[in-house]
Amino acid sequence: MHITVSNIPDSGLEEELKISVTFLDDMTEVNVPVSLKIFRVGDKVLINGKVKTEASLQCSRCLENFSYPLDVKFEVEYVPLQEFIRTDEELTREELDVSFYKNDQIDIEEIVREHLLLAVPMKPLCKSDCRGICPRCGINLNADSCKCNAKEIDPRLSALKEFQRILKDRKE
Ligand SMILES: [Zn+2]
Ligand SMILES: [Zn+2]
Repeated sequence: MHITVSNIPDSGLEEELKISVTFLDDMTEVNVPVSLKIFRVGDKVLINGKVKTEASLQCSRCLENFSYPLDVKFEVEYVPLQEFIRTDEELTREELDVSFYKNDQIDIEEIVREHLLLAVPMKPLCKSDCRGICPRCGINLNADSCKCNAKEIDPRLSALKEFQRILKDRKE
């Protein structure tokens, strides 16, 4: 969805829309509800956005899919590209995201997607104490336990242990 800047009324705009987003791990597209408030002062545009949804992510430790709640609020200021180049006064305003628009158009979906994806952790965890999967047998250690007892034993060392166990068994 594109917004034509000169069409934004002085009273501002409120929009409720659905935007399709693909989260990193999950290749399915989901429709995410977004509330936007859009204000224009001269040729500057301020966009307030709110998104509340759940993303289906894959846990980076146990590889199970889980639902991750996203509650994202953002504020972006848009200035026309040429004006930004002319004055550098805007450069000092670090508290706001400043973006540019061209040809009287702002791509709303792009901003929302960008902010949503920023809110998704790089290494998502299904829970903070996720126990992951056993590196030997691949069992999910949250649900089950295995007999590998693998505290990342060096494979050479474990072969040695196995050998010692066989020797011990023979003696008994
Ligand atoms: Zn997990
Ligand atoms: Zn195991």
